[in-house]
Amino acid sequence: MTFAVHGLPVARGIAIGRAVLVVSSRIDVAHYFIKPEEIETEIDRVRTARNAVADELTKLQANVAQMGPNDAPHELAALLEVHQMLLQDEALTGGVKHWISERLYNAEWALTTQLEIIARQFDEMEDAYLRERKADLEQVVERLLHRMKGTAAVLAPSPPRRKRAATDDDNDDPTAGDGIDVPLVLIAHDLSPADMLQFKKSVFAGFVTDVGGRTSHTAIVARSMDIPAVVGARSASQLIQQDAWDIIEGDAGVLLVDPSPLILAEYGFKQRQGELERERLNRLRNTPSLTLDDQRVELLANIEMPGDTAGAVKAGAMGVGLFRSEFLFMGRSGNLPGEEEQYLAYKAAIEGMNGLPVTIRTVDIGSDKPLERGGKSQDTHLNPALGLRAIRWSLADPPMFLTQLRAILRAAVHGPVNLLVPMLAHGSEIRQTMTLIDRARVALDNSGVAYGNVRLGAMIEIPAAALTLKLFLKYFDFLSIGTNDLIQYTLAIDRADEAVSHLYDPCHPAVLRLIADTIAECNAQGKGVSVCGEMAGDISMTRLLLGLGLRSFSMHPSQILAVKQQVLRADAAKLKPWADEILASEDPAALLQD
Ligand code: PEP
Ligand code: MG
Repeated sequence: MTFAVHGLPVARGIAIGRAVLVVSSRIDVAHYFIKPEEIETEIDRVRTARNAVADELTKLQANVAQMGPNDAPHELAALLEVHQMLLQDEALTGGVKHWISERLYNAEWALTTQLEIIARQFDEMEDAYLRERKADLEQVVERLLHRMKGTAAVLAPSPPRRKRAATDDDNDDPTAGDGIDVPLVLIAHDLSPADMLQFKKSVFAGFVTDVGGRTSHTAIVARSMDIPAVVGARSASQLIQQDAWDIIEGDAGVLLVDPSPLILAEYGFKQRQGELERERLNRLRNTPSLTLDDQRVELLANIEMPGDTAGAVKAGAMGVGLFRSEFLFMGRSGNLPGEEEQYLAYKAAIEGMNGLPVTIRTVDIGSDKPLERGGKSQDTHLNPALGLRAIRWSLADPPMFLTQLRAILRAAVHGPVNLLVPMLAHGSEIRQTMTLIDRARVALDNSGVAYGNVRLGAMIEIPAAALTLKLFLKYFDFLSIGTNDLIQYTLAIDRADEAVSHLYDPCHPAVLRLIADTIAECNAQGKGVSVCGEMAGDISMTRLLLGLGLRSFSMHPSQILAVKQQVLRADAAKLKPWADEILASEDPAALLQD
């Protein structure tokens, strides 16, 4: 029976596919399709690993048998016996074979998929003893995965296959005609931004997570992938069965589970309409970004990795307005990138933009962007968003920060670079940052290493910064408004918490006032100002921001053409009085819809 799960819209469009339930801790497992002729080899890899683990367990059992009861309690022998049984269990082995031969999943993916199915059955058991065996099964699978490491025959995974939408036949007979082309959607309780990044070039046609707010960094990465996504869907990962058909309606933030053939047909039609609309927008790629009254509007790209510049250029971006450099630092078990590695990454981004400016933001680790995979639960601080994050983290570790600064300065030899500093609030932080930038230059001078000029910018993300603009403009060449955090800190709403997401309001009069004043002050002083938060890519906000005097927008490449369409239809001069009216209103959102 069809049912709907509601969450928060993140990335537009419709995805139709079978559910792949993934537990965050198992994201590291490779997900790729094998070729039909590789089925036997892949099943063999599992068989070999199973035999090796069985031997391992047998040896352990023998050792335990030789120990006295004081060294090895009786429970240990019983536990190893259980592990042997689980290892040979037909539910596990048969299921794994099914995913490999019917769906062409690689062995590791097949194993974790089957684990999720059996684990759920354990969860539902009434008997507490049996319920606890889930942990044993997980350990057995971990052993198998460990054994399979380095044995994959396929070094380069097959290319993503996201194409074919579900048909009525598929719905009538869940196994009919599928195999290599079946579209898949990923369902997880939580994914950290680093997890999400893993899926950037993946096979998945859409994403759903139980937790997260619209501007959480996980949502931001999902949006940058330009595939339909919903976050904050609460218990979606509990309600949906592995392999069930789902429709993700990204624009509405809705997930339809087990859709009927009629619903599938309707959404298949909507999906095609969306594709046609995108094709129409593509025609604007080379159209100059000018308003009806000839105001030039700069449309820039937000990127996470150097490779994202290809998409930015393709979408007609006039530069990179925000390179979130922290994605180079995440998911590396604390092994931070050194100067050379960073230099090469920044150089690649600069070269990828072919002479267009690249704004590199210094690292913004912390809060919902932990260094390690596995989500925010790792952060034991009570208020991580108010803690040691972004520039605070950098200033707390000067050697780490200097390494990054040197790498950025060196990369600036290869093209125009803006260096952007996140989350500044205090004059002392600004001065310390300036001192460290000077020190980085001196260090490069002393060692005779070439470096380039950079324009220096500060992000306006904290109300305190927006209220002390003169101080910021004394030191910086340009400002970039990070509306995601500015909203979070102005309204005291955790941007990653779905429980308060209804109060996360970009149109709150206080938020609009801070944005308006920042733009006006920069324009008055002839300093550059742009918006690089999600608001810049939200087409319902384009006219208002133009009316407030903004002429530089930075967003995910996928949103550039839709925003350009708004720019082309706008008369900036006429929008000014309308924007002033909205600013003065006690309910701006209502006026915005007019
Ligand atoms: C912002 O806060 O608006 C911003 C662009 O930075 P991030 O989303 O990475 O915190
Ligand atoms: Mg921010």
